[in-house]
Amino acid sequence: MIRRSWAEPFKIKMVEHLRMTTRAERESAIREAGYNTFLLRSEDVYIDLLTDSGTSAMSDRQWAGMMLGDEAYAGSANYYRLERAVRDVYGYKHLIPTHQGRGAEHLLSRLCIKPGQVVLGNMYFTTTRAHQELAGGRFVDVICDEANDPDDLSPFKGNVDIKKLANAIESYGAGRIAYFCLQCNVNMAGGQPISLANVRAVREICQRHDIPIYLDATRAVENAYFIKMREPGQSDRSIEDILLEICSLTDGCTCSAKKDALVNIGGFLCLNDDALAEEARNQVVLFEGLHTYGGLAGRDMEAMAIGIRESVQIDHIRARIGQVEYLGNLLIKAGVPIVRPVGGHGIFIDAARFLPHLPRDQFPAQSLTCALYIDSGVRAMERGAVSAGRDPDTGENIFPELELIRLTIPRRVYTQAHMDVTAESVIDLRDRAEEVVGLRMTSEPRYLRFFQARFEPVEGQSVFRRMPARATVSP
Ligand SMILES: *Cc1c(COP(=O)(O)O)cnc(C)c1O
Repeated sequence: MIRRSWAEPFKIKMVEHLRMTTRAERESAIREAGYNTFLLRSEDVYIDLLTDSGTSAMSDRQWAGMMLGDEAYAGSANYYRLERAVRDVYGYKHLIPTHQGRGAEHLLSRLCIKPGQVVLGNMYFTTTRAHQELAGGRFVDVICDEANDPDDLSPFKGNVDIKKLANAIESYGAGRIAYFCLQCNVNMAGGQPISLANVRAVREICQRHDIPIYLDATRAVENAYFIKMREPGQSDRSIEDILLEICSLTDGCTCSAKKDALVNIGGFLCLNDDALAEEARNQVVLFEGLHTYGGLAGRDMEAMAIGIRESVQIDHIRARIGQVEYLGNLLIKAGVPIVRPVGGHGIFIDAARFLPHLPRDQFPAQSLTCALYIDSGVRAMERGAVSAGRDPDTGENIFPELELIRLTIPRRVYTQAHMDVTAESVIDLRDRAEEVVGLRMTSEPRYLRFFQARFEPVEGQSVFRRMPARATVSP
């Protein structure tokens, strides 16, 4: 059926009520949460755009699948259905289920990284890099420069800079490179895709130097959609077909099924190499569970198997990305500084430009997430200096080029009116930006600090400074 807009290919069968809060309640909730939106209670949140991870609404078919859970310890029927779905959609030979994406990253990093080795990739991801470092590796970024320019309108800002890749291979030597970690719809760059031509070029050069490529397939379906829409010669291909080609250019993948695959929990590791898969099956028993459940209930694997097949339906993916674009376009039209082109899973607001009066060491993005929450109950996530953490060698704060907040859109959960309310709040805040004060960190966890760090305003009792009353113009 041909539809004119991106409108949803589903209707709503069940609703979840939300608690409406007052501004005073939100001021007090964020103070108690140490000015970290990760530490808010979800019942105090109106529109939850913290993450699209595990927050999707499952379909009636997935819920029906939950009743088909075969909770046998070994050899669950759901495992075999998941294995078939993964093989059909992603095409890899061996499947090792894990409780979520980082479980797969942990196993892959342990298996493939020796202390002192480096992992090359197109921008880091928080948990991915953390596991690479825990295994004794160091991550080296070879993403194209466009990725760090929020105004660059290139269609594939997730691309690998082939010259940087060649230089890195030259300077480290292929033997010191554990593998290439290929990100799709690069999360930390704003959900920006990589082109098929670029994946092919990366494959070519890595193959020449015998460097394996492991895909972070978490957002590969969304990436395949952008390839179909933007890459010359790809518009007639199906999402399934493009996705299979991306995967065929790599040696395996880690995947968080909590994103594209439309489930609330789950992940997997895929490998083509028989011996490596054997080793991974040995390790999964230690850290996740037996190789036919990997820390998941049978019913979770069933929901994942169904979700994977739903995720590549064109009407689904078109509506998903259409909704994100809708919110992005409202903000662009109002002149809010966001990363463009609009990415796959959320809107990334340039907090450094939104709050130009705040120095980077007062964490403007963290402040902006608090201001937005107080204003409207919308929960966003910091993606700037707090997320970037510290250099593992020097212990210094890393100030990444981009200081962003992310409004992440859960799949099949919110309506167009929710997007409107969100845009209204952001635009209103932009007009009162000078009222927002910075933060200082009062408690800093050692790993992935953004999840649990605590802050306080650098002045006063709120992230909003009391401003002298504005002069009102009488009519
Ligand atoms: C979420 C995510 C992960 C980690 O997966 P979890 O399921 O949260 O452990 C890895 N890579 C990317 C790109 C992600 O978005």
